[in-house]
Amino acid sequence: MTEPVNICEVGPRDGLQIAQTLMATDAKIRWIAAMAAAGVREIEVGSFVPPRVIPQMADTAEVVRRSLEIPGLTVIALVPNLRGAQNAYEAGAHKISTPVSVSEGHSRSNLNRTPAESIVEVSRLVDWVKVQPRRMEVIAGCSTAFGCSIDGVVPTAKVVEVASGLARAGVDRIMLADTVGYAHPAQIKEVVRAVREAIGPVLYGLHLHDTMGLGLANALAGLEEGIRAFDSCLAGLGGCPYAPGASGNVVTEDLVFMLESMGFETGIDLAGLMAARRLLHEGLPAEPMQGQVAKAGIPKTFRQAA
Ligand code: ZN
Repeated sequence: MTEPVNICEVGPRDGLQIAQTLMATDAKIRWIAAMAAAGVREIEVGSFVPPRVIPQMADTAEVVRRSLEIPGLTVIALVPNLRGAQNAYEAGAHKISTPVSVSEGHSRSNLNRTPAESIVEVSRLVDWVKVQPRRMEVIAGCSTAFGCSIDGVVPTAKVVEVASGLARAGVDRIMLADTVGYAHPAQIKEVVRAVREAIGPVLYGLHLHDTMGLGLANALAGLEEGIRAFDSCLAGLGGCPYAPGASGNVVTEDLVFMLESMGFETGIDLAGLMAARRLLHEGLPAEPMQGQVAKAGIPKTFRQAA
């Protein structure tokens, strides 16, 4: 018996936003297509933020449009506000994700507003999206849900408060994000339980970073709490420009290795993912690439779950 787990690849967004050099649009598309060919069904391909803020994302509208031509791929774009949602809708994104910081410090430096103000903005965004002729799912990410490099400890009660506000605002799904990668497995369990008790199945998945080397341990803790959706990043690229010290996302290849070995079906072919790393490297040769599977090679004992 296998059970499905949904992996959303966030490399082209979270992974690229702090890369030192720009990745050309054609190279992004080749990379995205290679991941889709490996069986990745959901990819966050960019974000609709002003290009002066994150130059890596200046071509997001084009990347969305061209990604829509890849068969079977669900195309997601990050948007910081209603204006971004309108741009994503116009470009044709299937889903949008919108970040709301749980901690005041990260909220001010990232979005220049308080968490409460962000929830009001999400509410306006949802109201606009829901009256459009085409359906576009809204995913809200609770950033810094497990700790903040500016404010330090983030109380669980505060995460519950923000997640509840977002659920009331009418978002379709909520991700809990360890934006700076400070979480530990027992904390993951505590926060997942508390948020689920407050908002039920609207709690969808975890967005994990590997700053302290606990990304996979945290994913496992989430799995044990019934979480079946994760964001991750090929080669563990990434970080947050407004969260000093944050390192890359949990590595997609390593996460797929763990899940498939355990009998969870991701639909992703591990060898195909390894091939996609080459296209990432071609498009961004200076960027360091992480990953234990890449370092060790796929072991002979490995079997895909399906
Ligand atoms: Zn992130």
